[in-house]
Amino acid sequence: MIPARFDYHRPDSVAAAVGLLQQHGDEARVVAGGHSLIPMMKLRMAAPAHLVDLQGIAALRGIEAGDRIRIGAMVTQSEMLAHAGLAEAAPILAEAARQIADPQVRNLGTVGGNVANGDPGNDLPALMLCLDATFTLEGPEGVREVAARGFYEAPYVTAREEEEILTAVGFDRPARGFAYEKQKRKIGDYATAAAAVLIGAEGGRVVSASVAMTNLADVPVFSAAAGEVLLGSDCGEDAVAAAVDAMQGDIDPVEDNRGPVEFKRHVAGVILARAIARAWSRV
Ligand code: FAD
Repeated sequence: MIPARFDYHRPDSVAAAVGLLQQHGDEARVVAGGHSLIPMMKLRMAAPAHLVDLQGIAALRGIEAGDRIRIGAMVTQSEMLAHAGLAEAAPILAEAARQIADPQVRNLGTVGGNVANGDPGNDLPALMLCLDATFTLEGPEGVREVAARGFYEAPYVTAREEEEILTAVGFDRPARGFAYEKQKRKIGDYATAAAAVLIGAEGGRVVSASVAMTNLADVPVFSAAAGEVLLGSDCGEDAVAAAVDAMQGDIDPVEDNRGPVEFKRHVAGVILARAIARAWSRV
């Protein structure tokens, strides 16, 4: 299908992009990599009269990988995957990014587009919840920071105001034990279930644990309860089973072409157990 007619804008600053969003109101949408929005436009499920392309805004690019990590919204998933500093500081990013779609999608799809879109099937939102990331938003009222854990409200509905642009994601250098485990029907598919796990340990015991799940509710799920039951344990069989039980209380999968609810809950449990085991093996 061919998208409906639209006017194309290519601003060179965030201020100019925000100005265009103010000028055209709900008739305007920003486009980043276009790999979620353009398919929706082709299906006529979205028909913005004005497309505001963020590709010309240099300030939205760039990666800082110190103790505090900052990734510009227009960094592509491939750039994130290939960045040596990020591979050292936060290797969970590459492990998750490698499981997004295929290289063609990752070469254009951006970090900002993936997290701003609000699609519960996207992989980076749950990862951001697991990392306790902060999103930087810029709009007519200036710049504000929003915790990823408070950002997702409903499918495709987030705390971002219509005239705001997500400019960057930021988070502290995470714990050394990490895993992003994803079950999908075929290469390139969205998750049937995926789990992001970060574990810190001292003296053979868990001192910090963070667990988040992808595509198992209408928003990405941060399971505080699953992390809490791992604390103080050695990630043995009982602790992992308790974490899986706790996670089951936080997800709310629905039946669709990826399977019935019981199947999804089963897969979620298997995936989380695998992710915890791999994260523990790396602490
Ligand atoms: P766009 O499509 O340009 O934008 C998406 C939405 O976010 C739009 O509403 C846009 O207005 C808004 N937006 C974009 N950037 C900003 C910003 N900076 N500030 C405010 N709003 C913004 N993703 C996965 O996570 N896992 C997968 O397995 C996966 N499989 C895929 C398979 C295929 C075949 C395709 C085509 C896509 C797949 N995707 C998958 C989605 C892909 O990762 C997209 O690139 C991503 O979801 C959106 O990023 P984008 O830069 O393309 O955003």
